[in-house]
Amino acid sequence: MPTIAPPESSAPFAFSVEAVDPETGARAGRFNTPHGPILTPCFMPVGTQATVKSLAPEELEALGAQIVLANTYHLSLRPGAEVIAGLGGLHRFMSWRRPILTDSGGFQVFSLAHLRRLDEEGVTFRSHIDGSEQRLTPERAVGIQEQLGADVIMAFDECIEYPAAPGRVRESMERTHRWAERCRRAQTRTDQALFGIVQGGVHDDLRRESARVLAGLDFPGYAIGGVSVGETKEDCWRVATLVSSLLPAARPRYLMGVGSPEDLAQGVAGGVDLFDCVLPTRLGRNGAILTDAGRVTLTRRRWRDEAGPLDPTCDCYTCTHFSAAYVHHLFKAEELLAYRLASIHNLRYMARISARMRLAILERRFGPWRRSFLAGYRVADEAARQVQREKRLAAWTVQRARLDGVSSPSGATQAAGEMAAAFEAADAAELDEAVVEANGDAVGGGGRGRPWGPLPAAQGSGGDRVQGGEPEGQGEVAGGRAVP
Ligand SMILES: [Zn+2]
Repeated sequence: MPTIAPPESSAPFAFSVEAVDPETGARAGRFNTPHGPILTPCFMPVGTQATVKSLAPEELEALGAQIVLANTYHLSLRPGAEVIAGLGGLHRFMSWRRPILTDSGGFQVFSLAHLRRLDEEGVTFRSHIDGSEQRLTPERAVGIQEQLGADVIMAFDECIEYPAAPGRVRESMERTHRWAERCRRAQTRTDQALFGIVQGGVHDDLRRESARVLAGLDFPGYAIGGVSVGETKEDCWRVATLVSSLLPAARPRYLMGVGSPEDLAQGVAGGVDLFDCVLPTRLGRNGAILTDAGRVTLTRRRWRDEAGPLDPTCDCYTCTHFSAAYVHHLFKAEELLAYRLASIHNLRYMARISARMRLAILERRFGPWRRSFLAGYRVADEAARQVQREKRLAAWTVQRARLDGVSSPSGATQAAGEMAAAFEAADAAELDEAVVEANGDAVGGGGRGRPWGPLPAAQGSGGDRVQGGEPEGQGEVAGGRAVP
């Protein structure tokens, strides 16, 4: 297990690039924060409600998590930024001694909340928890993040729907630039690094302009926002690479909300240093684990008698203490420990792959490492991903229209409450889908033997379902990538 060096006393947010891969743009770096250094490339686990779901801080440290995310939108609505500030700030509140990053709340306001009104000053919306009216402005978003006290805080940006007309994307991007300036001016604490967020959708000209404007504001770090919203992975990687090439080399770069293993391999090649995504923990709770061969669904019958670990190459607590058969059993019995053990493995996998990439960059062999990794890693089918996204978007549009049609405050509160219940039920529904798939597999029969080994393309009775019922193609072999 890796150990993190103690914090250095000088230059709280110094970022140094230790090596650049000669073949790609990949960088190995070191980003100092008041709660210790972050060695990059780095995947950051997401702890929306000031907790990485089902894991204790000691477990996160042990699996090598260097920094965790927390969510401004959620925490400001419940328990409230003042409450957390009164209890000594986020680090003490959640008993986490390493760095924390909080987002600005922008993404959730534009996706989760009932959006009431957007104006030049900010956004007025209704809480998805109790329907109460709330307002976020750039100044308020920075103020809340200063109360929470994370090491890295994010500028408040406008996040728009995808796809959107270029004129609409430009209008939103320009507002985001004005808001970024206001965030910069609003900041009063000097022990927090405020990152600017580059927007511009999938339009290269807008992305170039946004990177140039933001770089001119001289932020201590930069994020690439407006990705992972429904665009293709190729668009996401192209934008990440383009924007990275235009940002100051001496500042860390963070690709927001993106973090599957293949995303990391491609994003790092494009020059990105930091990633975050709910994928590893959400997959874990749905009984899917990450391996170098791709995602593997643990609830499938062929794991039932497997005496070996989930992943024989893994050094995590789960793989060094339990048989795959035991973890499979926990999932079938719906025991709570299942979610924890699978989350530990998946987050350890992300920490390990980050460290492996870093070592490959330091040893000037990242290019070959990446080719070898991608050749062996089966990705989720792109077409299936898009179908799933369209379904979600359609469902979301219906919900949104319903809320927009409510006129009375009490009606809005009730509708918002129902929406909150629907969101909280979503994870459970995903798990149910995974279980249904596993049962289908039991009827249809699946391969036996080493579960992590490659399977012939024709094997398996249906798609593996993982995050959000996302089909993975036929059997465990993704449709888009042939496995030898
Ligand atoms: Zn493991």
